[in-house]
Amino acid sequence: MGKNDILANIAKIKHRMANACIECNRDPSSVRLLLATKTVAPSDMRIAIEAGDTLIGENKVQEFAAKAEALRDLIYTRHFIGHLQTNKVKEILQYVHCIQSVDRVSLAEKLQQRLAFENKHLDILVQVNTSYEDSKFGLDPDEALDAVRHIATMDRLHIKGLMTIGLFDADAEKVRPSFRLLRGLRDEIMALHLPDVTMEELSMGMSGDLETAIEEGATIIRVGSAIFGERIY
Ligand SMILES: *Cc1c(COP(=O)(O)O)cnc(C)c1O
Repeated sequence: MGKNDILANIAKIKHRMANACIECNRDPSSVRLLLATKTVAPSDMRIAIEAGDTLIGENKVQEFAAKAEALRDLIYTRHFIGHLQTNKVKEILQYVHCIQSVDRVSLAEKLQQRLAFENKHLDILVQVNTSYEDSKFGLDPDEALDAVRHIATMDRLHIKGLMTIGLFDADAEKVRPSFRLLRGLRDEIMALHLPDVTMEELSMGMSGDLETAIEEGATIIRVGSAIFGERIY
């Protein structure tokens, strides 16, 4: 993928996002594009970041750390969106601005413990498995409320919202119930008025279903291969 292709692909996605917002009377600035850059070369990420697309998400701690070092001259926002092993907590905290994939209470406990030791704070999203597929990480929707209540007591973690991967289906209408479930949970959690839990972010929707996700309230859309090309592992 050349520079012009990457920039043109970003423009296409943003155009779709803006149109989707207009269709459902949302302010286009209320939805951000996160570039999911697993397997993407730092040189390609640099093209996007220098053009102003500064919200980046990675899935693997080692890759995340290596790229943060390679791009250390740039100012951008680093989210983690993959399954995080508790033994990688110390390493990731050196680089991360937000962990979107807090998918179990034991991980939150480990983060809290390490952050307290380092005297730091961290923004997180709680990941929910809205498709009920065993292969997906995330809290069961039925456990999510109790888990959020518990995590809310951890003073080093600031819960900013929820994240989901949702059902994998080319038909966006089949994914809609996943998004709706996440939004419903967000509303229930907001109604609890937990201290330091804001629920401003709903990270849901990818290139195939971003319009549906935006209709259902998404604030962060995560896109990778539609911008940087098919992944080569
Ligand atoms: C890779 C990834 C995406 C984006 O997927 P693409 O098919 O590359 O657009 C979104 N969310 C998560 C959690 C991912 O790991």
